[in-house]
Amino acid sequence: MNTIKVDDTLCGGCMTCYKACWVDVIRWNPATERPVIAYAEDCVECNLCEISCPDDAIKVSVDYSRPWPETYR
Ligand code: SF4
Ligand code: SF4
Repeated sequence: MNTIKVDDTLCGGCMTCYKACWVDVIRWNPATERPVIAYAEDCVECNLCEISCPDDAIKVSVDYSRPWPETYR
């Protein structure tokens, strides 16, 4: 499973990663005003969250041990 980590000390709470993640991996915690990695198992490593973060606060680590999707085999 991919790992998505947010450095809360760098994060400015702009919600960009939350809006960028089109497969709903990232949810939003209004109490802390920080993103929550809710469904890491659904991450498709598009990196949109990481490249759109203005504070360089979110990092996606791809799990290369995962099997290829059936259609690519
Ligand atoms: S890499 Fe893509 S799919 Fe994964 S959490 Fe970021 S935006 Fe969502
Ligand atoms: S895009 Fe970056 S700064 Fe904005 S909420 Fe996400 S991690 Fe925080």
